[in-house]
Amino acid sequence: MGGMLWQLDAGAPDCHKFKDEQDMDTKAIAEQKLKEIEEIAAGWGKLLAREYFPGGPGLDVSLADMEDIVARATKAIVSGAVETMTADQADQLGVQAACPGCGRMCELQRKPRTVAVRGGSADLAEPVGHCPTCRRDFFPSA
Ligand SMILES: [Zn+2]
Repeated sequence: MGGMLWQLDAGAPDCHKFKDEQDMDTKAIAEQKLKEIEEIAAGWGKLLAREYFPGGPGLDVSLADMEDIVARATKAIVSGAVETMTADQADQLGVQAACPGCGRMCELQRKPRTVAVRGGSADLAEPVGHCPTCRRDFFPSA
């Protein structure tokens, strides 16, 4: 089996290859980026509240009602973000890939697949190659 591009396992098996300093820098940059993303998302949350209740929610609107609205919005954000990131990765693979069995260059096609992800689901267009020589499908790795 070829490398699956979108396995959703958390973390690589060996994360200790980098020098400690490099690792710290990378982590600090990633953490900073995540904080920026959180601020942006919090802003979206405010916009969403104003969009749904332009004059503010009535006193009859419960916390559960608010949760329902937010849950729908977060699922949409999850789908949109994951689908965009995986599509960008798929684009990097190009239109052909070498068969892992015989090395023959094969056309890549996109196979739709819905996956469950934390907080929602995403419709992926997964690149898959078919080798006519080996008569098998394969998933190219990045
Ligand atoms: Zn082959």
